[in-house]
Amino acid sequence: MANFTELANYIFPEINETIEDLEKKYPPRKLPEGAEVTRFAPSPTGFLHLGSLFTSLVAHKVAKDTKGVFYLRLEDTDTKREIEGSGEELVRQLSFFGVAPEEGYLGEKDVGEYGPYRQSEREHIYRVCIKELMLKGRAYPCFCSAEQLEETREIQEMNKEIPGYYGDYAICRNIDPNDALARIKNGEPYVIRFRSLGNHNNKVTFHDEIRGDISIAENDLDIVIMKSDGLPTYHFAHAVDDHFMRTTTVIRGEEWISSAPIHLELFDALGFKLPRYAHLPVIMKLDNGNKRKLSKRKDPEASVSHFIEGGYPAEALKAYLMSIANSNFEEWTAENKSYNIDEFKFSFSKMSLDGVLFDQDKLDFFSKEVIALFSAEELYKRCLEWSEKFDVKLNEFLKKYQQISVKALNIERGGEKARKDFSNYSQVYPIIGFFYPERYAEIVKDGYPFNPAIESSVVKKVLEDFAKSNDYSLANDVWFSTVKELGVRHGFAESGKIYKQSPDQYKGHVGDVAEMIRVALCGAKNSPNLYCVLQILGKEEVNRRINLAVTSLK
Ligand code: GLU
Repeated sequence: MANFTELANYIFPEINETIEDLEKKYPPRKLPEGAEVTRFAPSPTGFLHLGSLFTSLVAHKVAKDTKGVFYLRLEDTDTKREIEGSGEELVRQLSFFGVAPEEGYLGEKDVGEYGPYRQSEREHIYRVCIKELMLKGRAYPCFCSAEQLEETREIQEMNKEIPGYYGDYAICRNIDPNDALARIKNGEPYVIRFRSLGNHNNKVTFHDEIRGDISIAENDLDIVIMKSDGLPTYHFAHAVDDHFMRTTTVIRGEEWISSAPIHLELFDALGFKLPRYAHLPVIMKLDNGNKRKLSKRKDPEASVSHFIEGGYPAEALKAYLMSIANSNFEEWTAENKSYNIDEFKFSFSKMSLDGVLFDQDKLDFFSKEVIALFSAEELYKRCLEWSEKFDVKLNEFLKKYQQISVKALNIERGGEKARKDFSNYSQVYPIIGFFYPERYAEIVKDGYPFNPAIESSVVKKVLEDFAKSNDYSLANDVWFSTVKELGVRHGFAESGKIYKQSPDQYKGHVGDVAEMIRVALCGAKNSPNLYCVLQILGKEEVNRRINLAVTSLK
């Protein structure tokens, strides 16, 4: 007569180690009092979700603030959904945002003493734990087919009962070990389930760092802990890995709250101390007036690469996410203009409990603030890096006209009244592109947007006079008075106010004159500060452009 010991020895013949041995192999970390060990545990299924970056940012921050450890564990047990190379890409993207882990799966190799950090390489550890559970009668093989499980689900649905493998529905929970052994020997596929001792009518309470005490129905599901391919399920791997990697606070999305009772029972059955939990709010979106989760399929902003491609500085997205994380962050930035989140004191207690709405305007606001802090050289460097991949045209010009570019980016930069015109690097080319002669030629190819209310012959004369008389050595305010004088010479009022008093006496006012010059030089009615534009283009290029514009006028 076989018993569960024989069964366990048959299924796990190579396992001689015990949980006790693993405890010694992965001892508690030697860290200073209060240091937190946190982790990011992504599945390599394609791309870094905005919500995952949010989680990593918080986990990284908590570890850094407490001089602890932030590590990455690759949850790659779902081999069907795995996308090749996405693990490496995740690590690269985290580095881009300055929240790279210092331990764990780091792409090419693992770093750290608590590995392996890829779940697919931890089979041995899981097997040790499952064998021990089986020896204690807390795990058993289950041979139920997909059809059988589906049938159970239908019955439960019909009876309006909770779905799942529990109580009398847990067909294999009382399987005779002899029978099980014979079926395994016979090559029948099976999974291993956890034997729950819980009662759904009882409540368990656990503490959440953000939400306080949460009371929820006890687990009574005999969940699968090892799949038929020998790999563990999320629930089981979470308990084993977070314990043996010595995580102090599990920071993850709120969608896991409902599974917490399973985790509490697993930790207990395995004899592990429960880590602290912090379940973060989900990032949502308003869709036809309804709040819904950001969807991978429907929302480009669900993917972090959308913001990288869009040319948002890492600091801006981080600052934005921190404003979601802690309600007092925005207030803090009013006093701390650096927007450097490393200097901000994060706390779980200031975290919002509800799903937060993604707010593009707010991100743009933070981004403008952050970009306004860069020196022109820094912005040049960032644009160069970004455009290398995402804007070939800009990249070509930035390289060819480095000096002009830096000067153009420096217009009204720095100081109290710094211009906050760029919220991302993709806005740079449309704003400063006209500085580049090739781009200018393209813009004016089909004509100039001069004000049609002013006769071409007048425009022509004003521009010709300007080319001859403009003095590049003057300071901004003095220079502007020469523009007024230029206008007056040609019948324009020196201010809008004077013009309005007797419009019949004038052809227009100084604003119209400035607009002519702007249109001739930039090919557009809007441009950065005209005085700066003139200084940067220089006399020769200005006169060349004026000549071109004049020639275009009949
Ligand atoms: N692999 C899980 C996920 O991607 C991790 C959840 C957790 O952080 O524990 O959702």
